[in-house]
Amino acid sequence: MNLFQSLETTGHEEVVFCHNAEAGLKAIIAIHNTALGPALGGLRMWPYETEAEALEDVLRLSRGMSYKAAVAGLNLGGGKAVIIGDPKTQKSEVLFRSLGRFVNSLNGRYITAEDVGTDVNDMEWVFQETDHCVGVHQVHGGSGDPSPFTAYGVVQAIRACLRKRFGQEELGGHSYAIQGVGHVGYHVARLLHDEGAKIFVCDVDPERVDQVVTEFGCEAVGNSEIYDVDADVFSPSALGAVINEETIPRLKFKIVAGAANNQLADEACGNEIDRRGIIYAPDYAANAGGLMNVSIELEGYDRERAIRMTRTIYYNVGSIFKIAERDGIPSWKAADRMAEERIAAVSKLKVPFLGHTPLRFHGRLRSNGH
Ligand code: NAD
Repeated sequence: MNLFQSLETTGHEEVVFCHNAEAGLKAIIAIHNTALGPALGGLRMWPYETEAEALEDVLRLSRGMSYKAAVAGLNLGGGKAVIIGDPKTQKSEVLFRSLGRFVNSLNGRYITAEDVGTDVNDMEWVFQETDHCVGVHQVHGGSGDPSPFTAYGVVQAIRACLRKRFGQEELGGHSYAIQGVGHVGYHVARLLHDEGAKIFVCDVDPERVDQVVTEFGCEAVGNSEIYDVDADVFSPSALGAVINEETIPRLKFKIVAGAANNQLADEACGNEIDRRGIIYAPDYAANAGGLMNVSIELEGYDRERAIRMTRTIYYNVGSIFKIAERDGIPSWKAADRMAEERIAAVSKLKVPFLGHTPLRFHGRLRSNGH
C-alpha cells in the first residue's frame, strides 16, 4: 500500500502505529482533521485478519468522525483508534494502559472513547494513563450509557423530517417502523410512545420485541417484513446498508431517520430514495446524540447540557435540508457538504493555532476505589 498517497486522498493529518510486544499491543491511531478541535473518536478492538484491513478501517472511521463532529456543531475533529486483537480473549489491564500511554503521548490531539469491542471498564484502564479519554465510569465523572441521548437525537432528526415533509413536527400523529429495539431502538420506541404514536417493531431477539410490545404497546412484525410496513417513518436502529437495491422498491415510508450507521448501501441508493421523494436524515447527523453527550465530559459532565445540546440535532438536520435545496442535491451529499464547508471555513483562521485549550476535567477522579 502506498500509505502517503492514501493519506493524501483521505486528507489525514497523522497516523500513529503503536507497538508494545510485552503488552501484546498492536494498534493504530488515525487523526483525520483537527481544524475544529482535538480529534475525538472511539477505540475499536477487532480481530482484523490483516494489518491493511485494520488500517483501512481506522482511516475510514476517523474521517467519518470529522464529518460527524462538524455537522454536530462540535469543536472537535475526527479521529479513531483500533487495536488488532480479539476482544473476547485478548483484553488486559496492561494492553489498555499501554494504549493509554500512546494516546497521552499525542498531548490531547486525540481523545479516545468506547467503541465496538471496548467498554467502560477498558476506558477506566486507559484513563489510568491519560486524561484524553471519555466514556469513563459515572463515578469518575463520566457520562454513562450514551444510548438514551442517541435515541433522543434521532427523535429530533425525525421532527426535522416531519417538518420538511408535512409542514409540522408533531410526533404523535404519525406511524413508525423501528428496525432493532436494542439500546437505542428501545428508547426511540419509548419516546415515540410517550407522544402517542403508532409503532411497528422488529428484532432478531424475541425478548427485545416482547419488552416493547408489553411496555409501549408496539406491534411486532417479521424481520424481513419491516420494509413493507405502511408507516410514515422508517427508523433503522440495527444494521447498516438496509437502504439498498432490494429494499428500496418495497419502501412506502415517507421518511427514513434512525440511529444505525451507514444506512445507505451506497451513494446511488441515497440518490434513488431522494428521487422517490423519501426524506432521509443523514445517519451521522441523526445519531450524533451519543457523541454530543460524551463530548460534554471534557468540560465537566452535565446531563441537562447534554439534553439541550442533543436538541440541536433538529436544527442541524434542518440546515442539511436547506443546503440540499440550495444546491439541488440529495441530503446525504448535503450533510457532507455542510461538514466540509464548516471545516474549510474554520481552517481559514489566520492566527496560528498554538495548542488546544487545556481540557478541564471537573469532578473526574482517577483512583482505584469507587
Ligand atoms: P444494540 O446492539 O443494542 O441494538 C441493536 C438491536 O438490533 C439488537 O437488539 C439486535 O438484536 C437487533 N438486530 C440485529 N440484527 C437485526 C436484524 N437483522 N433485524 C432486526 N433487528 C436486528 O445496538 P445499539 O447500541 O442500539 O445501536 C444500534 C445502531 O445504532 C448500531 O448501528 C450502532 O452502530 C448505531 N449507533 C449507536 C449509538 C449508541 O449510542 N448506542 C450511537 C451511534 C450509532
